[in-house]
Parts: sequence; structure tokens; C-alpha cells
Amino acid sequence: QMNERESMFLVSSFAKDYFHDVMLNSNKGKAIGLSYFKERGFREETIKKFDLGYCIDEWDNFTKAALAKGYDLKYLAATGLTIVKENKQFDRFKGRVMFPIHSMSGRILGFGGRILTADKKAAKYLNSPESDIYHKSKILYGIYQAKKEIAKQDNCFLVEGYTDVISFHQSGVENVVASSGTALTSDQIRLVNRLTKNITVLFDGDAAGIRASIRGIDLILEQGMNVKVVQFPDGEDPDSFAKAHSDAELKEYLENSAQDFINFKVSLLLKDSNNDPIKKAGVIRDIVTSISKIPDGIQREVYVQECARIMDISERVLFSELAQLLKKGL
Ligand code: ATP
Ligand code: MN
Ligand code: MN
Ligand code: MN
Repeated sequence: QMNERESMFLVSSFAKDYFHDVMLNSNKGKAIGLSYFKERGFREETIKKFDLGYCIDEWDNFTKAALAKGYDLKYLAATGLTIVKENKQFDRFKGRVMFPIHSMSGRILGFGGRILTADKKAAKYLNSPESDIYHKSKILYGIYQAKKEIAKQDNCFLVEGYTDVISFHQSGVENVVASSGTALTSDQIRLVNRLTKNITVLFDGDAAGIRASIRGIDLILEQGMNVKVVQFPDGEDPDSFAKAHSDAELKEYLENSAQDFINFKVSLLLKDSNNDPIKKAGVIRDIVTSISKIPDGIQREVYVQECARIMDISERVLFSELAQLLKKGL
């Protein structure tokens, strides 16, 4: 069993090197893959730091190379790098630029592959399938490249996408990881929890991003961590924002726009309530529900006080609401 996983790691590492090498050194790789990244503004040092690559748009260019090097088809199939169908073999990621996904210690667990054309029929991103080494709900993209800086800054920025992580590094913000489009999980937050108690959520400025932030907040609070939220203008994501601003402007925006979860919820939920008392009560209940997820009693009390002040309501009412929720939770 251990050997099987080891073999899967080895073939994944070969694939990472192969896709990277093909992109930097072959004619097709340079003309298609490398120019895609360059057009997106990624510098060569960044491309190297993240081991970005390209899988040539032929049926089995990569699979053939791996087999020729002596890698077993069994592990190519087990990692999903090769799709085997009726005795035919082809590359899962053909024609895509490649984002290798590293574990905390730098091993290659899997890949994300992005399509280059605006082909509406194919998925924009394709990921490795779940396997003995790739569990997408337990992985954070960029954790390997970010871990030092997360500990040093004692804060972790959490974004949605691969390119958000990479752009931030290029803009000098290196304490950043991505949930890679999946709904955030407790296992993912636990990875960050080993490095810092502070997470700042930076999801896309669209309805899906806001929904994901709200879900994420409670999961982060549950682990006794502090959570802040930075919102981006509608239609922007951290990558597009970083590209459109200087490094200093980005840092300033991150510092000045970070809200604690109470202020975030208040500004979001109270937006079009026009002082409607029923809506206001709903917002308060929503916030108290989040507070009830916090394991530490003293922290809960601090947030109750803040909520009372912001919503202009007595602490007593909030505490009794909180007590009811906590009793239900038992
Ligand atoms: P880009 O800037 O390259 O268009 P993005 O990261 O902004 O990519 P989003 O649509 O915001 O893309 O999605 C965020 C993340 O969700 C992606 O980075 C990727 O990890 C994941 N994702 C997006 N679309 C898909 C898909 N069709 N299948 C699987 N994962 C996806
Ligand atoms: Mn999005
Ligand atoms: Mn995005
Ligand atoms: Mn984007």
C-alpha cells in the first residue's frame, strides 16, 4: 500500500517536471503554454516558483514520454494523468496549462489544468481525480510556497483560484492559499491552523464568492481562529485586482478593507434593509449564530459586546439569544 502511493508520487513528480520542461524548452510549449502565461503577466521566475507547465495538445504526448522513461501505466492511470479506455491511452490534460498542486512538504499531489480557448463546452479547469494521494477537500493550493510567510506574517489570505495565489506572490504578498473552487472544508482550515490563528478571506466579488465567504466564516470560527473578510468590487477577483494596481496599492487595499466578520455581515446583510426591524432582527440572529460557533467563552463575550455596540442593542438580549443557541448545540 505504501509502495503504491510512493509510485504515484514519483510519477506525479515526473509529470510536473515534464510539463514544465516542455513549456520552457519545446517549440509548441513556448508558442502556446508559455505565451499564455506571459500574456497573463506572469514572469519567468513566478512560472518557475510554481512549476507551471503545459501538456501538449496531442492524444498521448505525455503518456508516451512517461512510459518510455519506465513509469508503469498502472500508476499513470491511478493518478489520473492518463485515461485508459478500451485499450487506448490518452492524456487527461492535453492542451491545457498545468498547475501542480504541492503538499505542505512539497510533494506533488495532483494537478489543475486550464483550458486556453474560450471553448464553452469544455470545463475551464480540470483537476486530478480523487485518488490515494489526491484528496481535494484536504488540500490548499499554494500552501507549500506560502507556509513560511504565513507563519512570519501570522496571517493567511484565503483566495478562490490558482491564478489569485500566483498573482499575489508576484505582487509581493506571499502568505496566500487557494481553496481551488471547492467549498471550504474544516480539513483545509486545519492546515492553516498549524501555521497561524488568523485568516483573511478574499473571495471573488460575485454572488458565489460572497456565499462562499459566509460559509467559510463559521468554519473558521469553529476552530477558534480569527477571521476577517476583504471584499472586491463586483466582477473582480484577487488576480484581476492585483494586476490592475501597484504592489503598494494592493497592500494598502488589503489593510484598509479588511473587516472583522461582524462588520462584514452587518454591511452585507443590512445593506437594503432600510431600518426594517424584522430584517435587523434577522441580521442580529445571523451574527449571534456565528458567535455561537466560537469555542472560547471570553472571545464570544468580546464579540457580543461589539455586536451590541454596532447594532445598538443591549448585550443582555444578545447573551440570552446566544445561551439558547449554545443549549441547542449541546
Ligand atoms: P482564471 O482567472 O484563470 O479564469 P479563476 O481562478 O479566476 O481562473 P474562477 O472561475 O474564479 O477561476 O474559479 C476559481 C477556482 O475554482 C479556479 O482557480 C479553479 O481552481 C476552480 N474551478 C473553476 N472552474 C472550475 C471547473 N470548471 N472545474 C473545476 N474547478 C474549477
Ligand atoms: Mn469565481
Ligand atoms: Mn476568479
Ligand atoms: Mn481570475
